[in-house]
Amino acid sequence: MINDTPRVRFAPSPTGYLHVGGLRTALYNYLFAKRNNGKFVLRIEDTDRNRYVEGAVENLINALKWCGLDYDEGPDKGGDYGPYMQSQRLEIYKEHALQLVENGHAYYCFCTPARLEELKKEQQAAKLPQAKYDKHCLSLSNDEVAAKLNAGEQYVIRLNVRPGQKVAFTDIIREYVEFDSNNIDDQVLIKGDGYPTYHLANVVDDHLMKITHVVRGEEWLSSTPKHVLLYDFFGWEKPIFAHLPLLLNPDRSKLSKRQGDVAVEDYRAKGYFKEALVNFVSLLGWNAGDDKEFYYLNELAEKFSLERVNKAGAVFDIEKLNWLNAEHLRAKDPADLLQTLKDELTAAGIGFTDKTDDYLKNVIAVMKERVSFVKEYIEKSPYFFLPVTSYDENSKLKNWNPDTGAQMTRLKDEFLKLGDSPVKEDYESALKNVAAELNIGAGKLIHPLRLSTSGMAAGPGVYDIPVVLGKAETVKRIEDAITRLQ
Ligand code: GLU
Repeated sequence: MINDTPRVRFAPSPTGYLHVGGLRTALYNYLFAKRNNGKFVLRIEDTDRNRYVEGAVENLINALKWCGLDYDEGPDKGGDYGPYMQSQRLEIYKEHALQLVENGHAYYCFCTPARLEELKKEQQAAKLPQAKYDKHCLSLSNDEVAAKLNAGEQYVIRLNVRPGQKVAFTDIIREYVEFDSNNIDDQVLIKGDGYPTYHLANVVDDHLMKITHVVRGEEWLSSTPKHVLLYDFFGWEKPIFAHLPLLLNPDRSKLSKRQGDVAVEDYRAKGYFKEALVNFVSLLGWNAGDDKEFYYLNELAEKFSLERVNKAGAVFDIEKLNWLNAEHLRAKDPADLLQTLKDELTAAGIGFTDKTDDYLKNVIAVMKERVSFVKEYIEKSPYFFLPVTSYDENSKLKNWNPDTGAQMTRLKDEFLKLGDSPVKEDYESALKNVAAELNIGAGKLIHPLRLSTSGMAAGPGVYDIPVVLGKAETVKRIEDAITRLQ
């Protein structure tokens, strides 16, 4: 199997959204497949009917597609071993469970919930480290089992774990891992409702779908010995395991919804770029061995290796995500940001039909170094989209003195003499000329110019603003300021 085409899978349970931890698992599987000319399979593990969420599968698929993690085989794509929805494969799991019963590696259990509850209490009272089934039903004879089945008694099928054994496996990230079978419960394989548990369905599918590498979160590490036993009991070759480090909050607690957003769609709704989110998530436990942190998906696919994934938990640092978002924004062509800006303007209720695409692209270009998100174009430079309605108090007090009105009138007249579409240098030399003529420092005009055109004390280059606004609008804003600030 190891020499076959590598086949990996992302096997989420549809909980309603794609958790960023799930995105990291999906991404590493995707990158591994790309890097090794393998196949990336999407399998939906929907055997827990109590957790069924309407629309969850569509949400998952949409989130993966938005991130650009295109899978080769999945519920909506087909593939050699589909349909890739476990709920549509119940017979297969049942048959396999019965095969284990046949071989003595699994057994029927008819214990009632009341008995199991009682057992748990006794074990807790006896201070056992972990509640475990006591193999009560293992002693039933074949005839007794047949009679109970005929009588229609409720049952589950359990794994028959032999005590006193070492269950070991190697893991690319965690290296050698060993469990004591005394600590492994006789796991339910088929539940009372006839559905398989995660363990059985997962192992059967990984085998039947020819998965060569199981790459998943560390929270599944304690399930792996049960899986190893299943592979051995079926007589199947085991895949290679790689358990990815936990994702942690900055206080090193496990990443949870309580401390912030965990769903990919939350980040999308907040205006993060998919490139930034994917780049950020790629670094949660992996690095290429150098200082480079800015990556596109295709570059990651060339660099990624499971051998370079760390064991230590990875801290989810939102500041770093914000920084990467800004970096990705800066790397984009203004034309690529245009539609997003229009969407944000629409969402903010700001009309822009009087603005040309070139105007908006100029705004994008001059503010690029000052924003991390597209919506910040509106928050940080509303004056490019709306008239100036108020002026920064401090700047007004500091920079607008009794002479300023006359000086600005002079500046405005000089601007009016410029050609139709002045460039930065034209405005700059006009301002310098006026300052020299009036025998004042350029600052006496620069700050009032910024205040008049933007209403703010800071922003992009002071001559960038008139270039974007255009000469007529700039002059109008200076005239308005002269009237209103005198
Ligand atoms: N269904 C499990 C999950 O929700 C899959 C774990 C695995 O990859 O084996 O993550």
